[in-house]
Amino acid sequence: MKEVILCKYGELILKGGNRSEFEAKMIKQLKQRARRVGNFSVFYSQSTVYIEPLDEESYEKIDEMTYQAKHVFGFSGVTRAFACKKDINEILEVVKTYLPERLNGYKTFKAEAKRSDKKFPMSSPEIAGEVGGAVLESVPKIKVDLYNPEIVVRVEIREKEAYVHAGQEKGAGGIPYATSGKGLLLLSGGIDSPVAGYMMAKRGVEIEAVHFESFPYTSERAKEKVLELAKLITNYTMRMRVHVVSLTKIQELLRDNCEEEYFTLLLRRYMMAISLRIAHQNNCEAIITGESLGQVASQTMKAIHVTNSMSDIPIYRPLIGMDKDEIITISRKIGTFETSVLPYEDCCTVFTPRHPKTRPELDKVIEEQNRLDFESLCNEAYETKEIIVVKAFGENKYEGK
Ligand code: ATP
Ligand code: MG
Repeated sequence: MKEVILCKYGELILKGGNRSEFEAKMIKQLKQRARRVGNFSVFYSQSTVYIEPLDEESYEKIDEMTYQAKHVFGFSGVTRAFACKKDINEILEVVKTYLPERLNGYKTFKAEAKRSDKKFPMSSPEIAGEVGGAVLESVPKIKVDLYNPEIVVRVEIREKEAYVHAGQEKGAGGIPYATSGKGLLLLSGGIDSPVAGYMMAKRGVEIEAVHFESFPYTSERAKEKVLELAKLITNYTMRMRVHVVSLTKIQELLRDNCEEEYFTLLLRRYMMAISLRIAHQNNCEAIITGESLGQVASQTMKAIHVTNSMSDIPIYRPLIGMDKDEIITISRKIGTFETSVLPYEDCCTVFTPRHPKTRPELDKVIEEQNRLDFESLCNEAYETKEIIVVKAFGENKYEGK
């Protein structure tokens, strides 16, 4: 007997012509991770990808490999299964030996069998019947419930072997990473933007990020926090380039020259203009932000229009219709919440206006903007850019300007 990981396709099943391209990408991503964890074989058969440990040491790392597989977009389920010979006695032996531990604490179950090898001498209902009997024999107090079972025990008779498993854990879902083009995520140290990045990555968008700092008003520690958030997102994306741009000079000039109530809106226009330049330089086809309608003064319809109207590429705001508690639920799920709530300052919270405009008129904002030389300040800020490559495995790499 050996234990393997079965990764089942999600939405990919719906894909037509380009399905094989998607599959190749997912398998490549699994193999990249597997190489980092140990010695595993990764292969595809019948809408399932199999991951098998090839030696004892890798077998010990099957938990870690399962964790990795659960972070690859495109798989709806990731299941640990026991593999054995296609022989009913062996199958029942596996059920009796290994399943009781997995079924511990469950009150009801249902046994199912799937037979893709039609040469197997028993029908699926016959196999399910035998397996159900073996479970009842070996797990005290558990009962059969065909309509609403707490857990499903499955036997799959496939090409090479038979697989026995109980319960299916969720995979990362979505569609394979980096199959939908590239987007530039505006990444702050808050709760929302990491979630926004994750959500677009889940829809296949390759993520590059830009972070704006305002040293010394924002600290080195605040920047490290953002890089830590980026690192947490690379659990899903494997790596991410993060551009860090300084807004210090712009913020000081805004403070000294512009009407306070327009301060945040103007800052956001600078951020947008610089982000667009980075996006164009790096083949990003969209901007991604963590904005949520009405959450703060700069996220009313009119305020969003003030930055939206600058862009010649789409701006994706996957959180636009979500409540904060819904966003927090996702942030906890992907593991960014604890880092996001660390109390470090963000450049948006430096010199915040006491009474920000919530219904700004674009003409008036542009009038305020024209008090300074917008273009040359954007150029200057762009020149402060440094790029850090954040990786899921290994140290960050400083890539330079
Ligand atoms: P978050 O929780 O993501 O920080 P927020 O609720 O604090 O969002 P804002 O500060 O208004 O909202 O920012 C809205 C969006 O603008 C953020 O989700 C993010 O995409 C972008 N943003 C804000 N500050 C920065 C920054 N310092 N660097 C890069 N992007 C930023
Ligand atoms: Mg913020």
